[in-house]
Amino acid sequence: MLEVKDLHVTVEGSEILKGLNLTVNPGEVHALMGPNGAGKSTLSAVIAGKDGYEVTSGEVLFEGKNLLEMEIEERALAGILLGFQYPVEIPGVKNIYLLKAALNAQRVARGEEEIPAPEFMKLVREQLSFMKMDGSFLQRAVNEGFSGGEKKRNEILQMLVLQPKLAMLDEIDSGLDIDAMKVVAEGINSLRNADRAILMVTHYQRLLEHIVPDRVHVLVDGRIVKSGDKNLAHELEARGYEWVLEESAA
Ligand code: ADP
Ligand code: MG
Ligand code: MG
Repeated sequence: MLEVKDLHVTVEGSEILKGLNLTVNPGEVHALMGPNGAGKSTLSAVIAGKDGYEVTSGEVLFEGKNLLEMEIEERALAGILLGFQYPVEIPGVKNIYLLKAALNAQRVARGEEEIPAPEFMKLVREQLSFMKMDGSFLQRAVNEGFSGGEKKRNEILQMLVLQPKLAMLDEIDSGLDIDAMKVVAEGINSLRNADRAILMVTHYQRLLEHIVPDRVHVLVDGRIVKSGDKNLAHELEARGYEWVLEESAA
């Protein structure tokens, strides 16, 4: 589904990604770990198509198509969704309108009819209750005055409504209490299916106890220096990143 080949990316004149390779197949959940400043958020931003990143060499293919030639909106319509891709706060724009507009843009791009209002309400209400969010959420402006936990739930709600092919979540677990993390993890697990891939950036093994990844990668200084299965996350939790660095330098 996603192939990143020898990707080099520069941000404001400094090289952040330095030859990154990553392959993600449909149905897989990948966890991206690594020290602060390694380039994890940069990678997800480049895949989503955010501004401000200069790809100096390498390739990013999504379902065989050159993603780097596609605008951010085209990528979203192709089924790539980064949590919080939508502005963090949109004063005056209600959550429900953003969700509906995004869903309808997707349907129209696929040549489908817009979703009838009652069907949309039914869909959203189901997902809302699954995420243990109350109905007033829909009438609030996007993320305005939301707590950290509410924003994270809202991010998963967007995913559940929009059903992307590739869902990318950057530090979805940060700042969540244990109960909120369980709800968020259940939401992510319910996104798992044979056709969808999930790429999660996380610092903590804790989240990976609830969402068992197929692959775990360690990103250090702009490259993936080690990959493994879920056991790699346990090892990182116990031993930190230093040994991975030593191993990759050897
Ligand atoms: P991570 O998510 O792994 O912590 P980031 O991808 O956020 O790392 O950042 C990687 C490096 O790129 C850091 O050194 C950071 O300071 C730098 N960086 C990221 N975004 C910008 C930006 N918009 N302007 C300048 N430097 C940036
Ligand atoms: Mg960072
Ligand atoms: Mg980051």
